[in-house]
Amino acid sequence: MAKKQFKAESKRLLEMMINSIYTHREVFLRELISNASDAIDKIYYKALTDDALSFDKDSYFIKVIPDKENRTLKIIDTGIGMTKDELETNLGTIAKSGSLAFKKETELKDGYDIIGQFGVGFYAAFMVADVVTVISKALGSDEAYKWESDGAEGYTIETAEKDSIGTEIILKIKENTEDENYDEFLEEYRLKSIIKKYSDFIRYPIKMDISSR
Ligand code: ADP
Ligand code: MG
Repeated sequence: MAKKQFKAESKRLLEMMINSIYTHREVFLRELISNASDAIDKIYYKALTDDALSFDKDSYFIKVIPDKENRTLKIIDTGIGMTKDELETNLGTIAKSGSLAFKKETELKDGYDIIGQFGVGFYAAFMVADVVTVISKALGSDEAYKWESDGAEGYTIETAEKDSIGTEIILKIKENTEDENYDEFLEEYRLKSIIKKYSDFIRYPIKMDISSR
């Protein structure tokens, strides 16, 4: 399958982030949980105006599932999902809001400590993962799609299997190096404390159900 290239802008931001001071790389989880929450908001607001849809509170949640053996971390939501086109436009280009703030502040602050302060969005996942896989099924769609990227080289999109509407993000957590250790992002207690620190205000339940991986 031919790999598609990221837009030049995305590539630059990615390099900047990956080469930045790593103190706040834990914010990747805040970004992915906030996207999951936004996606559930979207289905919620649709349900408010569309009688054919009912919003059953219990079926909307976010799951964070670490798997030490396979060195993966999954973030699953029951939100509105993404079509093939949406995967392409939303994840193939660095999104507007977060990255703009990021760039402006970079100029002001010389690149120091900015990652912890601003929404950097989906791409923050590449601070801790060397492969990011997104499997998504959009509301109203029969097909699911899988978007996958190693960050630097672009991404692929293909059809996938997924029963329910929503999105599943699978991070292949980086291997440890002499200088960097990523094991903390597979530790349940550590993930819980990151969630408490950055995502305490999220209106949907964040479950950590390790038995369901
Ligand atoms: P922002 O959240 O500021 O728009 P992001 O880089 O975090 O920027 O995300 C880019 C876009 O990708 C989002 O606006 C959304 O359309 C889409 N997206 C990301 N994660 C999800 C998800 N879990 N479910 C549905 N859409 C998503
Ligand atoms: Mg976001």
